[in-house]
Amino acid sequence: MKLTKTIKKNKLLTGVFLTYVFLLIVMPNKAVESFKNSMYYVKEMLEIIPVIFLLTSLIEAWVPREVIINSFGEKSGIKGSIFSFILGSFSAGPIYAAFPVCKMLVKKGASIFNIVIILSTWAVVKVPMLINEAKFLGIEFMIARWLLTTISIFIMAYIVFLVIKKENLPIDKELKDKSSENKIKIKEEYCIGCGVCAKLCPDCFVIIDGKAKNIKEKIEPDYVENFEKAMKKCPTKAIYL
Ligand code: SF4
Repeated sequence: MKLTKTIKKNKLLTGVFLTYVFLLIVMPNKAVESFKNSMYYVKEMLEIIPVIFLLTSLIEAWVPREVIINSFGEKSGIKGSIFSFILGSFSAGPIYAAFPVCKMLVKKGASIFNIVIILSTWAVVKVPMLINEAKFLGIEFMIARWLLTTISIFIMAYIVFLVIKKENLPIDKELKDKSSENKIKIKEEYCIGCGVCAKLCPDCFVIIDGKAKNIKEKIEPDYVENFEKAMKKCPTKAIYL
């Protein structure tokens, strides 16, 4: 039962494992070669991913949601596109390092349009790569390719923005599931009416007659972060789910 659950949860990993077993039986040499290649990439990922996770966690904890919405959100306009372009262009590391960063940005309110720009520039117009490209293939080649790639990135970002809806992304679903499960509650007898919760999450709390009352019944993705801050900072731990 436990094994079936683990297999269901890790379908891809199970598929890879079974492929290796199959290869080992029919083509042992290929299996060894494939294993060596996989280990090379695993090693590369282990060197990069912890740093990326650390950076992502720091940004998640320290950069307020409003800053991300203003800089990369749907209403960030041309400024958001330029920021996204610069972020992708000056990034370091392989493209898979961009995924946790982008997941965090989407969670904090970045638009699909800007996420596509970040991912695409990260993959194909990184500055160190451009310098090398100019060195090996000539400056004209680099400029022409950069220009056409940039135009294509913006067209692609617009198409993806039209086709993919943010609410269909697994990240948004995660937040919604979290919010639909959790009802906001306050232990009135613990509340001292300090107002910290109303200040940190005005969408959720209001002070009436010296006691905090919740305006919303459930946490919504729009203010989940402020709610969590308010819950943590409540001096008497009166807020719970
Ligand atoms: S932060 Fe806690 S104690 Fe202060 S008003 Fe809110 S619920 Fe009451």
